[in-house]
Amino acid sequence: MIFTNSNSLFSFFNDFFSKFNLMDFNFKKNNLAFVFFTFLLLSSCSSFKQDIDKKEKPLVLTTFTILADIARNIAGDRLLVHSITKVGAEVHGYQPTPSDLVKASKADLIVENGLGLELWARKFTKSAGNVPTIVLSEGMKPLLIEGDSYAGKPNPHAWMSPLRTIHYIDNLVEGFIELDPSGRKIYMRNAISYKARLLELDKELRRTLSKIPINKKVLVTCEGAFSYLTHDYGMDEAYLWPVNAESQVTPKRMLNLINVIKERKIPTIFCESTVSAKAQIEVARSSGAAFGGTFYVDSLSSKDGPAPTLFDLQRHNLRLIQKGLESGISQNQ
Ligand SMILES: [Zn+2]
Repeated sequence: MIFTNSNSLFSFFNDFFSKFNLMDFNFKKNNLAFVFFTFLLLSSCSSFKQDIDKKEKPLVLTTFTILADIARNIAGDRLLVHSITKVGAEVHGYQPTPSDLVKASKADLIVENGLGLELWARKFTKSAGNVPTIVLSEGMKPLLIEGDSYAGKPNPHAWMSPLRTIHYIDNLVEGFIELDPSGRKIYMRNAISYKARLLELDKELRRTLSKIPINKKVLVTCEGAFSYLTHDYGMDEAYLWPVNAESQVTPKRMLNLINVIKERKIPTIFCESTVSAKAQIEVARSSGAAFGGTFYVDSLSSKDGPAPTLFDLQRHNLRLIQKGLESGISQNQ
């Protein structure tokens, strides 16, 4: 294997080891470290070879599974699309592995969400040897996080509203055409049909959510990941923490949410698949609300789960919202 930017790779591994306190000495000067480094690279390469075919097609890496699903729909069979993070992974605070970096160094294009979602991605991309990168939210006017310690920062979860996802598609098509100009017609045709499906989903969301009684139109989640959905479909939102992070659960945040639930008489509250629902179940118990089940937001589910595609994800969440807020009955999932 040939690395085009060995210095970048070297500094990534150095950072990687220092971060995890595996080694606190200079990597270059220690033979043992070199042996370990080589072993890691070789083992990464062998699994990488199994994952990726012989590069007959350009390789596109996305930062998380939802973007990979969108990208595959637009790419058809012209491009090989993989997600760096796996199903169920927490994308906000993800720590790339040496194997991720080997993959990235082979990529022809990296696709990011932006809006501060993947804080790890910029350094990662640079370490991978400056692979061309596109940011799907580029040019979009973001919603800002209100209150709490993240106040004023853009909310990154724009893919949760189908009308905003259309914006992602335009940026993706532009990036794919630049990567593979002869696929232009195919990308544009796939984009037209994917956008039509998003518009159908938009109508379905609007129709279903409009039937929820006005006093129950409050979506309570663990992370404030539904701001675009609630904003675009006429709902209010409340959450335990604004963005998934290490110190997300605090007694103050729990108490504030319990008060909102009691004041607004919210019948059902929810949490997401990539975080622990423990604190939210406690909030439900203390506030008298039902726990309505697990939403998918920052990751798809596995293929045999309820949300293997973005459309399945949206419809799964919609079903839980409808059941939880129309009737107030817990789904206990
Ligand atoms: Zn999130």
